[in-house]
Amino acid sequence: MCSELRDYWLNDGKSAFSKRIYNYNWPSYKLNGVILSKITTTWYHQIACGRGRFRERMNLFDPSISPTCRFGCPANETVDHIFTSCPHLVVSRADLKIQCTSFDLRYNLKSLFTDPRLQIPVERFLLTLISHT
Ligand SMILES: [Zn+2]
Repeated sequence: MCSELRDYWLNDGKSAFSKRIYNYNWPSYKLNGVILSKITTTWYHQIACGRGRFRERMNLFDPSISPTCRFGCPANETVDHIFTSCPHLVVSRADLKIQCTSFDLRYNLKSLFTDPRLQIPVERFLLTLISHT
C-alpha cells in the first residue's frame, strides 16, 4: 500500500510544494517527541505538507482575509515570503540560519522541515508569526 500511495503522490500535480521538502522515496521518518506547543507543531506539519496557514492561501477560502503579509509588506504572505524575504523577519530568520549552520545544513525549506533538530527553532519562528495576527 505504501508504494501505491507514493506512486499516487509522485504523479499528483497538486503535491509540487511537498516534493520541494520531502524526498521522492519517502524514507521512514520518526516524528519528534518534543514540541514547543500544540499550535506551533500543527503549523509546522501543515507547512511541511503545503497547507500552511499563510494569508495568500487563507484568502482562497475566505476572500475577506487579505492575502498580503501580516507585517504590512506589499507582498502576498506565502511560505517563500515568510521564510526568505519578509523584511520584518530578518532577525528571526537569522536565528534559524545560525541553527542550520551549527548543524552544517543549508538554510532551505527541506532542512527546516525535515531535520528534527530544527523543529523547535522553526516552531519558535512560527510563534513569532502566530503572535502577530
Ligand atoms: Zn512580509
